[in-house]
Amino acid sequence: MISSDAYMKDVRDIVAQFPVRAVQLYGATEKNIEDFERFVEHTLAPAGVTHVTVTLYYRFEYRSHPEIVESPYTSVAVAKRMSDVCKKCGITIVPELDVPGHQSNVRRTEDMPAPLGMLRVHPDMLEPYGKGNSTLSVCTRHPLLRPIVYDMIDDLMEAFDTKVIHAGFDEVLDIGKCPRCRDTSTATLIADLINDLNAHVRSRGGEMWIWGDRLLDGTRFPTANVGYETSLNGTAPAVDLISKDVVICDWHYNEEPMGHLTPSYWATKGFRFLPCAFNSLKGSEQQIRAAYVLKDCPNLLGTYLTTWSPMSDFIRLAEQKIPEYQKTGIIHHDASLETSDSSSSHLFAEQSSNVFLQMYIPHDIAEQ
Ligand SMILES: [Zn+2]
Repeated sequence: MISSDAYMKDVRDIVAQFPVRAVQLYGATEKNIEDFERFVEHTLAPAGVTHVTVTLYYRFEYRSHPEIVESPYTSVAVAKRMSDVCKKCGITIVPELDVPGHQSNVRRTEDMPAPLGMLRVHPDMLEPYGKGNSTLSVCTRHPLLRPIVYDMIDDLMEAFDTKVIHAGFDEVLDIGKCPRCRDTSTATLIADLINDLNAHVRSRGGEMWIWGDRLLDGTRFPTANVGYETSLNGTAPAVDLISKDVVICDWHYNEEPMGHLTPSYWATKGFRFLPCAFNSLKGSEQQIRAAYVLKDCPNLLGTYLTTWSPMSDFIRLAEQKIPEYQKTGIIHHDASLETSDSSSSHLFAEQSSNVFLQMYIPHDIAEQ
């Protein structure tokens, strides 16, 4: 049955009812760990945030593989401080690595992007890449891949003292092209890797989160970013091949003319899932309301705000805006930023901090 109040309630009141209310931050260093600690304790915890994901990729002190570490990185000592403050506040910390895509800087020219981490050290792990693809991928069947990623997972679980790992799996555009892979379907290739990493995480008593885009058929789900936000490279049938205990992070960042169709898809497929917001006030609200229609479905875990911007930028902007917002309930969106030449990371921090207010920060204005 469709819940009519999905379109009447304040978005904050909807979000407040969800069991999971997650926020993405990037890793801290010795220079800004105090920002992280202050923000968790004085903003995220009082706002009822339950999970903080920490986007690290190769920017962590992987002690089992120091050769793959990229600087600047979150040290094991800083990870402990991040973990300690979250634990003190009853928040689950979720470190994120990313395979098999996003193994390089984002491509800005036609030159090959600079490989990072594993691929920098082991160039033969490269899956042949397509022209115009934004980042490089590693071969899902390279014999070195699983042993290294298992070690990375173990390092993260130990340093952050957590059982929940985000393993990435977004925007994998190059898959199934090399001689090792080309006779196997891309759905099987990605499902095998998801299942193997999940089995490793589960063997440690943990839970694995992944982004959902590779499991969505781009010809079936209309989105603004077809091919990225959905799959056009044959991986979507993996949705029926992977373990149901993986948590799907369902990222869609724009307002969609036809509405967001994926919450009911994950519910039908039997996956626990988290609709993910980012930088669009309207798109985020639309997605939260679409999810809330399924409020009685136990697989709808809650919401997950992504920020995709440097941690301290996001924190500074959110902290600056909260006092006035709490008084007035008005989000002052600086539209001039949309057309300015400010770097995308600053723009993302500005926009996602507005969505953070919209989703998580209560205000004192009486109901109209
Ligand atoms: Zn391959």
